[in-house]
Order: sequence, then structure tokens, then C-alpha cells
Amino acid sequence: MLLELEHGIVFVQQAGQTLYMPPFCTHVSMGIENCTSAYYYVATATQFPAALKHIPWRVAVIRREAPEMHQTQLADYASAILYTLEQVLRGDFDKALNIVALHKNMCDSWNENKDKVYALCAAIEDPTKADGFKDGFKRAWIEFLERKCVLQENGKKLATCQLCKNPINKMSGNKADRLVRHFLQKHWPRADANGVQEAVDKVEIARFTEGKAHQIGKARKGA
Ligand SMILES: [Zn+2]
Repeated sequence: MLLELEHGIVFVQQAGQTLYMPPFCTHVSMGIENCTSAYYYVATATQFPAALKHIPWRVAVIRREAPEMHQTQLADYASAILYTLEQVLRGDFDKALNIVALHKNMCDSWNENKDKVYALCAAIEDPTKADGFKDGFKRAWIEFLERKCVLQENGKKLATCQLCKNPINKMSGNKADRLVRHFLQKHWPRADANGVQEAVDKVEIARFTEGKAHQIGKARKGA
């Protein structure tokens, strides 16, 4: 069978050897005698922004390779994407990396690929799990955008949305909800375009700003 293969590179791996594969490199491995192989995936912060564009490809592979188990695997995949995104946005990794450039790449990738992330969540049939992942992505971004605005304000700079560079003082809404409203309306895929979006937005904005208006009121009172 090996002799029938064309193109590519063929080699025999010996016991104790490890092979590092670049991302999205098509490959096949075959045991030519009884043996045990083990593999694992490593997500790197620098590669992660570009990985979002491959989500539909990975979803298709999961559906094809594991028809019985595909719901479990889709949930595992969504969980891994969310976990890595949270770490990248928090800057929770090797500090030697250029975090400013990485966050810019992450923002560009989100602007380009957010519909793919949304479609991954929507492919999960259990509505509680699917909503849990959607909320996770929203929270990760809202926290990141708010943190960056606070940093800009502390540095006496004009606070802007990292995803589109719009200044927050030009956004509609009050201090507690304007960035949440902006993110949900401009940077989260619009699931509904049939007239009920406004009602959905109201509930969503209230949910993600819960407690904040109270905190701001308290801070003002105390000031
Ligand atoms: Zn924005």
C-alpha cells in the first residue's frame, strides 16, 4: 500500500521519536507492525488568531470522522477555543510575546471570523451548552474591552473599543452599559433580523451589565 502513495513525504518513525507537525498539515499515519502511538495538540498564542478561520473545516472533520460522538467532540472543541481565547485576551501566557501585536491580531481575527465561532456554538444541539459557550465568548470579549478602556483612561488616553477603535464617549447608553451594548450590537453576530432583535438586545444588555449600574451608583454616592 505504501508503494501506491504519490507525492508528499514518507518516513518511518522509530520508538521514542517525536514528530512535531505544523498546524493544518494534512497527514496520515500507519502502523507497519504492532505498536503504540500517542499524540496531542498544542495551541500556541501566536497561532491562535489565525486558527479561527479554520473552524468550519474542523467542524466538518468532526462530523465526518465521529458521526456518533460528534456532539461531544464539538462541545470539546468549542470549549478548547473558548479557553484559549480567554487566555489570549487576558494575556495569560509567556510574557516574552509581543502582547500588543497579538491582541491586534486577535481583534482582526474576531472581526473576520466571529460568524464562524457563532456557527460552531450553534452546531451544538443542547441549547443550554450552546448558550453557555455563546455567553463565554461574549464575557471574554466584554471583559477584555472594558479592561483596555480602563487602562487607556488611567493613561489619560481616549478610551476606545479595541475591535473598531470607536471612542466610548461617542457610544450610546450610560457608563455601565455602553460598551456592552456596543459589543453586542456591533461585534457579536446578529442572530435575528426579523424585528425581534431590539427586544433580544434589551434583555442581553441588561444581563451583561447586571450589577454594574448599582456599583456605579454606589461609587458616586460614596464620592
Ligand atoms: Zn467596536
